Amino acid sequence: MAKLTEEHKKKLSDGRQQAKDINSHVKTCITAISKQRSPEKAVRTRLVEDRLKEMPSNTKKAYCTAVLGKSRVAGVKAFCQMCVGWEGYVENIRGCTGLDCPLYPYRPYK
Ligand code: SF4
Repeated sequence: MAKLTEEHKKKLSDGRQQAKDINSHVKTCITAISKQRSPEKAVRTRLVEDRLKEMPSNTKKAYCTAVLGKSRVAGVKAFCQMCVGWEGYVENIRGCTGLDCPLYPYRPYK
């Protein structure tokens, strides 16, 4: 078996740290939504948890920021990512053909 170089070890370590940061962000997000003063908070918490399970890790941060109402920019980004189904989202949003979509002028990655 090939030995890992220092560069590979650093990349692995950075990746693990990034995954921990995202998981921590997601937990904070779910906790915050479950504590909101809203009659729909239980249903909303479950829906957000289910949605988070569908998406790749690198899109979860923007989604959490958006569902917590902290950033309109994150809201547009997360919505566009969902719209294209997350797979290859940068290229797909950049090449969006939804010219009549109200978010078209605001979409990221132009
Ligand atoms: S701008 Fe394009 S990618 Fe974004 S929501 Fe509209 S149709 Fe979807």
